[in-house]
Amino acid sequence: MAAYTGVDFLLIDELLSDEEKLARETVREFVSKEFLPKIQKHVRLDGSFPMEIVGRLGELGMFGANLEGYGCAGMNNVAYGLVMQELERGDSGLRSFASVQGSLVMYPIHRFGSEEQKQRWLPALAAGEAVGCFGLTEPDAGSHVSAMQTKAVRQGDRWILNGTKRWITNGSVADVALIWANTDEGVRGFLVERGRPGFEARDIKGKFSLRASVTSELYLQDVEVAETDRLPGAAGLSGPLNCLNQARYGIAWGAIGAAMACYDEVVQYTRDRTVQGGPLAAKQLTQAKLVDMLTEITKAQFLVLRVAQLKDQGKLHHTMVSMVKRNNVDAALQIARNARDLLGANGIVDDYQSMRHMLNLETVRTYEGTHDIHTLILGEHITGMRAL
Ligand SMILES: Cc1cc2nc3c(=O)[nH]c(=O)nc-3n(C[C@H](O)[C@H](O)[C@H](O)COP(=O)(O)OP(=O)(O)OC[C@H]3O[C@@H](n4cnc5c(N)ncnc54)[C@H](O)[C@@H]3O)c2cc1C
Repeated sequence: MAAYTGVDFLLIDELLSDEEKLARETVREFVSKEFLPKIQKHVRLDGSFPMEIVGRLGELGMFGANLEGYGCAGMNNVAYGLVMQELERGDSGLRSFASVQGSLVMYPIHRFGSEEQKQRWLPALAAGEAVGCFGLTEPDAGSHVSAMQTKAVRQGDRWILNGTKRWITNGSVADVALIWANTDEGVRGFLVERGRPGFEARDIKGKFSLRASVTSELYLQDVEVAETDRLPGAAGLSGPLNCLNQARYGIAWGAIGAAMACYDEVVQYTRDRTVQGGPLAAKQLTQAKLVDMLTEITKAQFLVLRVAQLKDQGKLHHTMVSMVKRNNVDAALQIARNARDLLGANGIVDDYQSMRHMLNLETVRTYEGTHDIHTLILGEHITGMRAL
């Protein structure tokens, strides 16, 4: 197979700075040399994440890369997006690990945490010496988190937490869980360390999607934490929703990476595959599919580049993130499905990556606001009316 060089039909590289390109190339090389050789084993055999690379990801500055200080790389949002793109070119599970650690654990501590919490957690999380998870979803509260049942009750300078969180990425491997709970004062976020009495994480098995990622259920039974473990700056649902907005931004970039991997694979494959006495790539129907793939990747690249600029300028609105997450994940999923189709029977075995990306993207379409939820967010934005 030829070395992977990315997809750049409209010379977007000319719009990138040297630092941005360097960030992308660093991750691209890491994914090709250090991650992809491991992926088949983790997906095929036990459905696990290669935990031995966590320190290396930290060394390369991939956790909380767009945050400033506390050992974070302080990249702009274009470079950060390119990092997410390249990680997901490897696997959505790899990008999910970095998204959860950076956008859903480090970002809230950075934005809403006390100085003591920042000093305690951010350098360790940035270096990959500690792992975090984000507990918002519950068995009966997914898209509509206001139905959350987990409760935290204040007792002097302590809080007692009770509830169940489900579908939590990195739940059982996390050193610290950010748990969102209802209190008499509204929704609040609590940093719960691994090993607290009454806290248990059990992995969800049997996943077809995001197999190279740990997904857990968290049980909290009378778990006691200190007032100093509560994020002092987070009040109400805007706390977790702000975090999700950060993660969704990274997902919009990441999905392009998965799409590029499928496109790259299928262009090479159809050139080499002979059907009816000639290359599959020389058939009109094949070319139409490849043209659609390249066009959708290119459109998606421009969407995120503009959104990155707006984010860096402080002009980003959450509905813009909804649009790019919704569009880019949908486009990537369609590309992965078509790539799998063009691979024929070969496309259903894990010697090829398109089906793995396709299955992963089903999760990516569901988490961080489902495709339909982002449709509703944008519909309300356009009309001023909340759809029932
Ligand atoms: C692998 C994986 C990892 C995850 N990691 C995390 C994590 O780390 N932390 C975390 O907190 N959560 C995580 N999640 C949970 C994820 O965010 C939720 O699954 C998601 O929000 C959807 O919730 P749900 O699964 O309960 O689906 P539901 O909310 O039950 O939705 C089911 C369907 O109904 C549709 N729907 C919902 N409401 C409406 C409506 N008003 N009108 C029309 N249609 C509607 C949805 O679009 C969807 O198609 C993860 C999920 C997966 C699969």
